[in-house]
Amino acid sequence: MKSNRPRVVVLGSINMDLVIQSPRIPIPGETLLASSSTEFCGGKGANQAVAAARAGGDVAMIGAVGGDGFASRLIENLRTNNIDFQHVRRRDDVASGLAVIAVDDNGQNAIMVVPGANALISVEDVERSRELIQDADILLLQLEIPVEAVTAGVEIAKQSETRVMLDPAPAIANLPPHLLDVDLLCPNEREAQVITGMQVGTDEQVSAVAKVLQQRGATHVAVTLGEGGTHLRSDGQSQLFPSFKVGVADTTAAGDAFAGTLAVKWSEGETLPDAIRWANAAGAMAATRRGAQASMASGEEVQSFLESHI
Ligand code: ADP
Repeated sequence: MKSNRPRVVVLGSINMDLVIQSPRIPIPGETLLASSSTEFCGGKGANQAVAAARAGGDVAMIGAVGGDGFASRLIENLRTNNIDFQHVRRRDDVASGLAVIAVDDNGQNAIMVVPGANALISVEDVERSRELIQDADILLLQLEIPVEAVTAGVEIAKQSETRVMLDPAPAIANLPPHLLDVDLLCPNEREAQVITGMQVGTDEQVSAVAKVLQQRGATHVAVTLGEGGTHLRSDGQSQLFPSFKVGVADTTAAGDAFAGTLAVKWSEGETLPDAIRWANAAGAMAATRRGAQASMASGEEVQSFLESHI
């Protein structure tokens, strides 16, 4: 039987995040005794897929892992989160995506990201998932995989009723203009600044940037502003949706919780303003907890949070 939950397809990155806690960040040539190491499943694509699944979506992921020991754990993590991984390719010729994150006792960090299998996702890989994309309610993408693969996904979705939502992260200044021609673009303020080259310091500037992004092709634009909330530009109107005031523990992946939740709620038939309230709540809740995927709340938790914040 077909589920009536919104069908969300995420085309994006899958990484292992290796966090090393150390008194300080080593300098070149230095060997340092670190205090601990912890592994987390991450990657913007996988994070947003987990957020969408927790929000109640019927989620499938298109992506790639390598031939190393991390691969099976990354796949197992998708399975545990009820994400369909049939379209995640396993490539023996390359390593899985890996982020090595050194964090010192002052909370400063130094990060190295090896894209690995993510960098090899090809147009042909995406073509193989044509039917999955075209049967979906929404295709959610980010920019941690090759831009050609992102473009292929967007083009396939546009040939059907599938909505396209792009979180243009990490930001690239020379984003191909056709990638702005999506149903919903949701940059954070820094990404909006990099894409347009415009300032985003004041409400008026954010509003002007959102307007430009809409003029360049996005039907709706949601610029996230951290604890400043979310600025929505839709149907020629601008509106600010304030964030929920919370005790912040760690804002890692607040944006991913926001994006996954927004994709599901909008696909469920909520209006964009209502879907943004849900997404702001999911982002705020993620900020109250440590970690990335571990910090993401379930749909029920977000619902009770919203009920207690009316
Ligand atoms: P990103 O992680 O992509 O930079 P943001 O930091 O803008 O994204 O966060 C996305 C959303 O999560 C925000 O629009 C906001 O609703 C919520 N959020 C993020 N940080 C906080 C915070 N400190 N307090 C409350 N809500 C937050």
